Amino acid sequence: MSDATPPGDEALRTLARERIAAGALPRDKATHTWGGLGSGLPCSLCGELISRTETEMELQLGDGVDAPVVRFHLRCHLIWETARREAARNSWIRVVDELPPQGAAVEARIAIGEGRSVILTVSCEHPGAIWLNVNTGEPLPAGWRPIEWRYLEVPRTETESRAELPTPRRA
Ligand SMILES: [Zn+2]
Repeated sequence: MSDATPPGDEALRTLARERIAAGALPRDKATHTWGGLGSGLPCSLCGELISRTETEMELQLGDGVDAPVVRFHLRCHLIWETARREAARNSWIRVVDELPPQGAAVEARIAIGEGRSVILTVSCEHPGAIWLNVNTGEPLPAGWRPIEWRYLEVPRTETESRAELPTPRRA
């Protein structure tokens, strides 16, 4: 119970959510991520120095020499990544910034011409970014252009339990 005790995962998760909501930590996926030995500089989440014997994750946000950089301990990086995905579930993501995960059903706002748009449940097949109407299984009509998307409402534990999915039975 000394001051030197590092904060627990739960405390860091709460901190990550608060900082993302306040705009103090990014909500968007990093443009580039590097792993390496610690630089001795403070972690952007927990604030502790990342020593040269620890793994440091350095993230660049955006392109260009002036793009902001954040750095995390390996553990803090995972916590931030989980928290930002949670935050992203509740907000619209522009297609130009990020495509939905391969094959995942998401809600998308789609421009259908003449300044009109519709919201549909779609999935995006990579590569080639082929958008399918999930209800019909058909590609979107020519000229329909997805603008932004968001995750459908899912139980919060979905991402955390993915590793425990049952393995398919043999035929
Ligand atoms: Zn840290």
